[in-house]
Parts: sequence; structure tokens; C-alpha cells
Amino acid sequence: MPQTEWNTKQLQFVAAMQRYEGQSSYRLINKIVSWFNVSVQLFLMVLAIRLNIGWAWQIFAVLAAYVLADFVNGLVHLFMDHNDDYSSIVGPFVASFHLHHDIPRYTDKPLLQVYVDESGYKLWLVFFLLFLSGLFFWHAVAPLLLCIGAYFAVFSSIAEVSHYLCHNSHSRIVRGLQRFWILLPKKHHMLHHRVDNMNYAFLNGMSDPVINWIATHFYSGYKAKTDLHTALYQHIRHSGNVPASR
Ligand SMILES: [Zn+2]
Ligand SMILES: [Zn+2]
Repeated sequence: MPQTEWNTKQLQFVAAMQRYEGQSSYRLINKIVSWFNVSVQLFLMVLAIRLNIGWAWQIFAVLAAYVLADFVNGLVHLFMDHNDDYSSIVGPFVASFHLHHDIPRYTDKPLLQVYVDESGYKLWLVFFLLFLSGLFFWHAVAPLLLCIGAYFAVFSSIAEVSHYLCHNSHSRIVRGLQRFWILLPKKHHMLHHRVDNMNYAFLNGMSDPVINWIATHFYSGYKAKTDLHTALYQHIRHSGNVPASR
């Protein structure tokens, strides 16, 4: 396709990816975010487990966090899939995020490494963890809420592992957990890749009926918009045999 046919968003997308792949600062930010998220999650988890709220409330906190994490991470995914602000300082992160729709299988890694690496892409979680830790140090959070918040943060990273397993695992245990919607079911998730504007949740998919309703009423979908913005980058990558950045 002649250069003049590429539109502004496609050109901005390529520029953003060049910044992402060319400037080590973006990779360093991923590493710092990962280190911060995982260590504060650990710190809050230890605190939460040691809190004297009783087993019944601990189980309630885990279940509440499990539902909340599926919903909130799905909403963040919905927002990110429609974000086309490639020129801002966080534009390279936005652009690299959009490539997930074209990835059928990820590079195989140990699950702990998936957890740590993927936590590095969760910039919003840094703000949540800072907020929750701040409330804790100011004694301004009820013990039950601290537990829910700590488990929510961990489930938010586990959601990335659940998504990875959807693409990479054929294990019978994983398939069993997916069948009971404890992990994200593969068939359910693949609709997100094939069809437009649906199934954004990626911990277990249970909140998709609500998220799909929000998407249908307030968002236009990605197939005819942000997915098309990746075209010039994919064209350059395939013609130059450059591997995907993630
Ligand atoms: Zn998506
Ligand atoms: Zn996927």
C-alpha cells in the first residue's frame, strides 16, 4: 500500500511502537512497575492473612476480591482497547497493548514469570496499591477492606496468568478449571479476538454479561478502529521479519 494511504493514527501508532521498542526507559518502567506491584502485593497479602478477622470473613474477602478483580480488570481492558492516544507520554504502552488481539499464542514461560512480567504492564495497579498502602499507614482502612484490596491486587495479576493459559495451555487441570469458570474459559475468551466489542473479562469471565452491556451502550468496538491502527506497524514488521515486541 502506498505510504500516503496510511492514516494519522496508523502513523502515530508506528511512532509510539518505535519509542516503545527503541527507548530502554519504557522497558525499565515495565520492570519497575513489575517489581513495585509484586512486592507491595506480597506485603499486603502477608498483612491481610495475619489480620484477625476470622476465617469466614477471610473467605468472604477472597470471593469478593475474585469477583471484583474480574470486573475491574475487564473494565480497564475495555477502556484500553478503545484508547487511541498514541502521542502522549504513555502512548507507547497503549500501542503495545493493542497488539494482543493479533497474538494467538504467547512465548512459553513458567507461570510465575508470566505473573511477574505481566504485573509490569499494570500501571493502574501502582496507583491502587499506593492508595491502599497509604490508607493502611494512616490507619484509615477497615481490616476487611484491606483484605479485599490485597486479594483484589493479587487476583488482578492472576488474571493475566489466566489469560495466558487460555492461549498457551492444553493441560487437563487447566481445561477443568476453565470448564467450571474458575479460570477464563478458552472458547469464551476467543470471542474477544474473533468478534467485535465483547468478552473483555480475563480472570474468569463471570462479569462479561455486565461488561458487554456497558460496551454495547457506551463503546464503539475495536475491529473498525484501534485494531486498524496496528496495520502499518504489522505491515513493516512482516515485511522486515521483525518479531513482535511482547
Ligand atoms: Zn482486547
Ligand atoms: Zn487473548
